[in-house]
Amino acid sequence: MNKEKLIIIGSGPAGLTAAIYAARADLKPLVLEGQNPGGQLIGTTDVENFPGFPEGILGPELISNMRKQAQRFGARTEFKTVDKVDFSDHNDLKLFVGKETLHTEAVIIATGASARWLNLGKGEEKYWGKGYTACATCDGAFFRDKITAVVGGGDSAIEEATFLTRFSSKVYLIHRRDELRASKAMQKRLFENKKIEVLWNKNVTDLKGQLNLTSVELTDTVDGKTSELNIDGLFMAIGHTPNTAFLEGQLNLHDNKYLKVVNHTHSNIPSVFIAGDCADFRYRQAITAAGMGCMAALDAEHYLTSKG
Ligand code: NAP
Repeated sequence: MNKEKLIIIGSGPAGLTAAIYAARADLKPLVLEGQNPGGQLIGTTDVENFPGFPEGILGPELISNMRKQAQRFGARTEFKTVDKVDFSDHNDLKLFVGKETLHTEAVIIATGASARWLNLGKGEEKYWGKGYTACATCDGAFFRDKITAVVGGGDSAIEEATFLTRFSSKVYLIHRRDELRASKAMQKRLFENKKIEVLWNKNVTDLKGQLNLTSVELTDTVDGKTSELNIDGLFMAIGHTPNTAFLEGQLNLHDNKYLKVVNHTHSNIPSVFIAGDCADFRYRQAITAAGMGCMAALDAEHYLTSKG
């Protein structure tokens, strides 16, 4: 039976930073990158707040650099997704990837979080990629001179709406309350942009269109009245769900499904460590995820060394 020393699940800044540190410690980590390698940075254009890049850097380029850096020191990366785990034997952790079972002495969970969708239960999946998306950075350019809308009232929603004004002739921001959650600095950016119109106290309650999305039904959260808004693209920015479903029953989770961390990066199992947005619902930044990835690798190294 082939047993790995350390498997890192996830390939965002947390997983790849863990891989750099673990590889430099000669642990020869295996990184399981999943189906959407790179995590949320892959859907980001300019990253302007990651230290070391005074002019900013593109999200995919930052990820690509991190992966190359980890590989340079001996990390192996594979596009595999873990379906379930069995952590009952702390010295022989089992990861199930399709029909394959991987065995390892230690694991770092760095699976991140994914964007939320409306989940109207009205078959809105048929519009995915046909006007209904969660990534302005990825799809914004398809909406040149079109009318688009962003749902949400946080920093992400404003970032997406502002980005879309590069292409769209008009951008609506649809928010369910009469007050934004976003920071004051982002709000200032929003209100200064003449292409963006905020629709307050509105929920999107239906999507319409033959093949592509052409309009949405809005329901007023104050008086319950419905109206129709003609748009070509709808961009979701209503927060994230941690990618932890495959760990339920194996690791301790908070009520919101984020992983519970004890003593910096430890889980409730001594050979399983945690890093990044799968556990962090407070900071959620690339740099904090990377920092936690570093910490998890150091803790995993200490665990493996002291185990002998
Ligand atoms: P967020 O702060 O949790 O905001 C989510 C927004 O979506 C809220 O306005 C919320 O409304 C709304 N919402 C949630 N569920 C909804 C639903 N089912 N229907 C309609 N609206 C719904 O998430 P985020 O904007 O993704 O930001 C996450 C974190 O990343 C934050 O800490 C943020 O500061 C940070 N961030 C920072 C930057 C930056 O500084 N450049 C950029 C992006 C993100 P309510 O307000 O009514 O709850």
